[in-house]
Amino acid sequence: MAIVFENGKVIIGNGKVIEKGTVVVDGNSFKFVGPGKKSPPSKKDTVFNISGKAILPGLIDAHIHICVDGSPDPMTSLLKDSVPQVTLKAADHARRTLEAGVTTVRDMGGKDYIDIALRDGIESGILQGPRMLCSGKLVCMTGGHGWQLGREANGVDEVRAAVREQLKAGADLIKLMATGGILTKGVEPGSTQFTLEELIAGVEEAKKAGRRTATHAQGTEGIKNALWAGINSIEHSFFLDDEAIELLLEMKAFVVPTLCAPYHILKAGVRKGVPAYAVEKSEKVMKSHWESVKKARKAGVPIAMGTDAGTPFNRHGENLKEMELLVKVGFTPMEAIVATTKTASEVLGLQEKIGTLERGKLADLVVLDGDPLKDITLFQKKDKLVAIMKEGRFYKCQL
Ligand SMILES: [Zn+2]
Repeated sequence: MAIVFENGKVIIGNGKVIEKGTVVVDGNSFKFVGPGKKSPPSKKDTVFNISGKAILPGLIDAHIHICVDGSPDPMTSLLKDSVPQVTLKAADHARRTLEAGVTTVRDMGGKDYIDIALRDGIESGILQGPRMLCSGKLVCMTGGHGWQLGREANGVDEVRAAVREQLKAGADLIKLMATGGILTKGVEPGSTQFTLEELIAGVEEAKKAGRRTATHAQGTEGIKNALWAGINSIEHSFFLDDEAIELLLEMKAFVVPTLCAPYHILKAGVRKGVPAYAVEKSEKVMKSHWESVKKARKAGVPIAMGTDAGTPFNRHGENLKEMELLVKVGFTPMEAIVATTKTASEVLGLQEKIGTLERGKLADLVVLDGDPLKDITLFQKKDKLVAIMKEGRFYKCQL
């Protein structure tokens, strides 16, 4: 018994559109995606006429923190909350994320391996949430950015040990901290943290185990160190110069901008309880951040959508605000969609399974009432998001 979507605007995820197309789901995967009607559906099939609506791949957020709660000062909350409290919050965040149409996420730093337990709980069906790829604990230097939830390590041997610990705990990828950041008091986004040697050791350990690597890298020197070390993705990328852009292209690395993170901090400000140091640092980087993303886009660096959800007022379930910000930076709506589907699947290394509406891929999809190519904010309107499916199973269906 198949599920058939007819007469819809089929936005494949790779930049192509079929104006009046058909998508057929059989079991957990796509059986047909193409123009016109599929030759007569069998009586047992469920057929939806989605004329006037758009059908797209399930959306992917390539940078979230499921354990971090989006409160005004989330690092302090994280240190204060007990493991059971963080676990309950994380499960709630996961459900909200899926309800927003985000069917896959990459978690970029959890606490006490709650992220990994949650991933497994969702996979086994006891909890609702997106498919998760998890980094376990982020690996940072002592007192470095993210130490509140990370595994501190110093020197090449300890970095190797720290990476091996994450692999042992079940991490899908490894996150290494190349520079300072905004939410850790006393460290500067522009400053380098892990040395080139430490980054090389970390990347090597991950590669040996067949895992991909990502780095929190905001300052120029740290970004270059990470690229020289062979990292797969640069997260945030506040300060990109021409050499960094060239290196990104040469190393075939991705950028995940997370425009939402400084945006929400500045929008809320100190008056809503965000720590003053975080507001000050965001003010300093904002202009260069947007310029860097513009430059990278123009140069043809692959850019994937990621929000850093969990940072102040950057709430789980409101992930698709980032698509609107990408358009504000200069992306076309189609480019923002590709960043949130195909390119994001490539950052995760899941491009064979998800990211586009193609025969044989896992049936992750959303249906929007309207045309997101005309209005990118449609993704954020819950009443316009009329269907959500993950692996052939509906989580919402108002068709
Ligand atoms: Zn992050």
